Amino acid sequence: MMSVAENLRTLKNSLPAGCRLIAVSKTQPVERIKEAYDTPHRIFGENKVQELVSKAEMLPRDIEWHMIGHLQRNKVKYIAPFVHLIHGVDSVRLLEEIDKQGMKAGRVISCLLQVHIAAEETKFGFSHQEIEDLVGSAEIKSLKNVRISGLMGMATFTDNTDQVRQEFRGLRTLFERLKNTQLPGIFDIRELSMGMSGDYRIALDEGSTMVRIGTAIFGERNTA
Ligand SMILES: *Cc1c(COP(=O)(O)O)cnc(C)c1O
Repeated sequence: MMSVAENLRTLKNSLPAGCRLIAVSKTQPVERIKEAYDTPHRIFGENKVQELVSKAEMLPRDIEWHMIGHLQRNKVKYIAPFVHLIHGVDSVRLLEEIDKQGMKAGRVISCLLQVHIAAEETKFGFSHQEIEDLVGSAEIKSLKNVRISGLMGMATFTDNTDQVRQEFRGLRTLFERLKNTQLPGIFDIRELSMGMSGDYRIALDEGSTMVRIGTAIFGERNTA
């Protein structure tokens, strides 16, 4: 089995310039994260607030922590003081709560809007139409402590690579359209977060700027 360091090096060499690698460290012990940190690597993603907070406390302060999972409003306050980017914003109410906690922490918190692109019912996110409505809506224009930096999506979990490609391509099209539209000041559309261990190559072909990769770096997660 390849080491964390080797996996990271191989992955980084295959990324186009300007694309960032989020090392998804959920369920991994801090020793494994430290191994990646020492290669060096500084960008890590977690999907649970409690795990994110406790790991951030145990690990060096110069890590850029990304919240990649579904985020409940009542937990935003725990990550607001330090989180670098929240990938999965899927409601206006959540955005408003992030704004409120950003204000308390004296920060502007960068967020990505999660778009529902998969065929599965269970994945969170806005529809394309909801995104179009949201960018034109008055209610978010006044938010001062959030910045919407782009979009995030998860493709269907399937072996059908054509389907995955079409889903990523659709998200890219929406992303390009927003990027080329004059939007209110809270928008600064530049990031397109798509691609995981199983589908990141397709996501890169389709213009991803951030891939979120766990198992291809750390190996299979121990879910027991
Ligand atoms: C776990 C997770 C990933 C990484 O998944 P791998 O298949 O291990 O690369 C990416 N994005 C999100 C939102 C995740 O929850």
